[in-house]
Amino acid sequence: MATTNISFIRRLTSIWLRETNPARLQELYDAADRARREHVGDDVHLRGLVEISNHCRRRCAYCGVNADRHLKRYRLTDDEILECARRAIALDYGTLVLQSGEDPGRSPEDVARLIRRIKQETPLAVTLSLGEWPADVYALWRDAGADRYLLRFETSNPDLYARIHPPIASDEGAGDRGGSWPHRRDALTALHRLGFEVGSGVMVGIPGQGYDDLARDLLLFRELDLDMIGIGPYLPHPDTPMGRHPERFPPLPSGEQVPNNEATTVAAVALARLLCPDANIPATTAVAVSGGEEARVHALRAGANIVMPNLTPPECRALYEIYPGKAVGIETAEAVTERLSAALARIGRRIGSGPGGRACRRAE
Ligand code: SAH
Repeated sequence: MATTNISFIRRLTSIWLRETNPARLQELYDAADRARREHVGDDVHLRGLVEISNHCRRRCAYCGVNADRHLKRYRLTDDEILECARRAIALDYGTLVLQSGEDPGRSPEDVARLIRRIKQETPLAVTLSLGEWPADVYALWRDAGADRYLLRFETSNPDLYARIHPPIASDEGAGDRGGSWPHRRDALTALHRLGFEVGSGVMVGIPGQGYDDLARDLLLFRELDLDMIGIGPYLPHPDTPMGRHPERFPPLPSGEQVPNNEATTVAAVALARLLCPDANIPATTAVAVSGGEEARVHALRAGANIVMPNLTPPECRALYEIYPGKAVGIETAEAVTERLSAALARIGRRIGSGPGGRACRRAE
């Protein structure tokens, strides 16, 4: 896209994000739904999520597992993770997503060994969501057989990014730019270069996030040619710096501040689908936590095509509460799958089988 077109599209995107007229919003959702059907079809792919550890070296101001929180910490063993993988297979999922904080207690070699074991013992695609690591670590994990990597950039506004991500001291191994926005962007570039399918994403409604910022985020998804895009509302956690000290993270004046509501989040999902028609876009857990099952179906009817049921053992799920409500009324992956299957039948969709990756779809 020529530069003039980019600024034109960004302005249009920003206007759509501000839209509140229900009939016009429905037009947006319908256009995204058509693009979804045309480019990625009617199958909704399920990814089994395993939260393998809640240890984290970082101090992200929004996140409930940040290093400063007094929280019982856990780390699943390889055998426990393989047990989750077997449940994923029994449920006919094609992908296992391993997510955690940036856990210095599980070495890169340990993670590589785990990946190799999953790839040897199961037919699952492996997605990692383990945060920022040096490029040689990403290379090690790619060599071990990992297929995909999820690393949200959270916001494309470098100042806002810096406000919510305190720097990491260089003695923690990240170099002097550790924790910065350019560092995160470099990490995404490295993942792309190594041949991962790369996912990224943002939170909607971070205090200080303006409509133009969110419009830029959406255009950056396109520029980065992402394979997966995760978009969820920012949900304040009371026991985090942003929850405890809201005065330090002031919102923009009303009219400029993006709200963290369902309508805006689903509009962002729809616009992401229109800008990146081939991407895999989940109806995220944060959408479902804040708006219930209906909100999840709403996102699936406005561009989304992926759901990530949680396979983490319940006692650990309760400790992986990155935002409040995430572990309330814990529902098993089995129950989610059953309910989703019924909901999808009602809207003329179905659960897909196989890994459901972007590359695999391209080859079809
Ligand atoms: N440590 C990994 C995984 C983080 S959890 C990483 O840094 O990539 C996955 C995502 O949850 C984050 O990228 C963030 O976008 C989201 N998240 C964290 N805290 C949140 C909150 N309070 N509200 C909404 N989403 C949140």
